[in-house]
Amino acid sequence: MGVTVGGMSGTPSPAGLVREFHHVFGLDARSTPTEVSADVGAHRWELLAEEAAEVAEVSVTGPLDQLARELADVVYVAYGTALVHGIDLDTVIAEIHRSNMTKVGPDGQVARRDDGKILKGDHFEAPDVAAVLRRQGWTPPDPG
Ligand SMILES: [Mg+2]
Repeated sequence: MGVTVGGMSGTPSPAGLVREFHHVFGLDARSTPTEVSADVGAHRWELLAEEAAEVAEVSVTGPLDQLARELADVVYVAYGTALVHGIDLDTVIAEIHRSNMTKVGPDGQVARRDDGKILKGDHFEAPDVAAVLRRQGWTPPDPG
């Protein structure tokens, strides 16, 4: 049986939607991965923390529509933060997914923690996010 990849309703990636939002409201946006100022970084984290806290409020008690809304807010703000840094987050997520899929061994065996979390097996390949960002034009800071 195949697995459906992509949005269940055929809706576009959040990247394009959030880019439109930033454009219309004159918010920060970059097209190449860029380190931003500490102030901008801190502000983006505040926005994300605010939304994450709102998920926490409704995660246990719901209602479901509120949970859906708050989860979407987290993703929307995360995409916005990526855009502010000039990161194409879709390609980073694809790399994380590639890595996650290596958690299954060639024998199809998967190691799980007691709470159900999928663990890294012997064949796990860590994501190479730096390589993804370099392909987007990122120049890593000189460590020297
Ligand atoms: Mg919210």
